[in-house]
Amino acid sequence: MSFKSGFVTLIGRPNVGKSTLANQLVGQKLAIISDKPQTTRNKIRMVLNLPDAQIIFLDTPGIHKPKHKLGEHLVELAVSTLKKEVDVVCFLVEASEMPGKGDKYILKQIEGIKTPVFLVINKIDMISKLKLIEVIDKYSKLYDFSEVIPVSALTGENTQKLVELIVQYLPEGPKYYPEGEVTDLPESFIIAELIREKVLYFTKDEVPHSVFVTVDDIEKKSNNLVVVMATIYVERDSQKAILIGKNGNMLKKIGQLARQEIEALFGTRIYLDLWVKAKKDWRNREEYFKSADF
Ligand code: GDP
Ligand code: MG
Repeated sequence: MSFKSGFVTLIGRPNVGKSTLANQLVGQKLAIISDKPQTTRNKIRMVLNLPDAQIIFLDTPGIHKPKHKLGEHLVELAVSTLKKEVDVVCFLVEASEMPGKGDKYILKQIEGIKTPVFLVINKIDMISKLKLIEVIDKYSKLYDFSEVIPVSALTGENTQKLVELIVQYLPEGPKYYPEGEVTDLPESFIIAELIREKVLYFTKDEVPHSVFVTVDDIEKKSNNLVVVMATIYVERDSQKAILIGKNGNMLKKIGQLARQEIEALFGTRIYLDLWVKAKKDWRNREEYFKSADF
């Protein structure tokens, strides 16, 4: 039997569930999930190994109209992924919403590409069958999709069917990544994103997207201990105060949960040394995110 392999991009508005789906498909928590849009700033590459195929998923930041420099950079990243060689584009939408401006904007970006585009209707656990038919109908009028697949990234419903369909569209090809490798992101990036996820989780809306984490040092000590130095950047002193909290309690909570997850992910003991700094308006200063490998 022949072996198939290829690249699949997951695109869609922020928050439709791209990272959740990537995690569900690959079965490991490596893309960062949050209920706030724009958590995934980088292209995340995840590999799914099957007996007769290898699928490489590219989880891109949501495409949307940019509001600032960082936004522009993110849109560029997402669109460039589409234009490069991929074998299948999965366009994710939410089952509970009819096509809106954001979805139409994305469809316009992909108009005319030769790559097959799947419409993946996510979060079907939240709606009725009747409503689903209506959503499928509305989207189908906007674009000539190669396949339409309703799924729930959260429960896993129908996601195997999605995998089967993708494989049908893949060309014969080699195993691009050795078995056992699920991501090619540097561990510093994964750790920074995990910390960022916890910041967003604990601070709710008080610390908005203007948060940025750098991993400054990773030092492997003896007896299975790794010391990680990281800095959380915010824009204002008031946000810094919120992040640190009374007697440093907030920072402690963030650090504890982040540490536990990093330990689980990498299977080693972690000492996490977390700092908070206020740096004004970093979002509009290109050098910050460029130098941090965004
Ligand atoms: P992304 O911005 O497109 O990567 O979206 P995320 O994967 O970060 O998910 C955004 C939010 O939607 C999170 O709170 C997820 O738990 C939630 N979510 C994702 N998929 C599903 C789903 O199938 N059903 C439900 N009910 N929630 C989901
Ligand atoms: Mg995401």
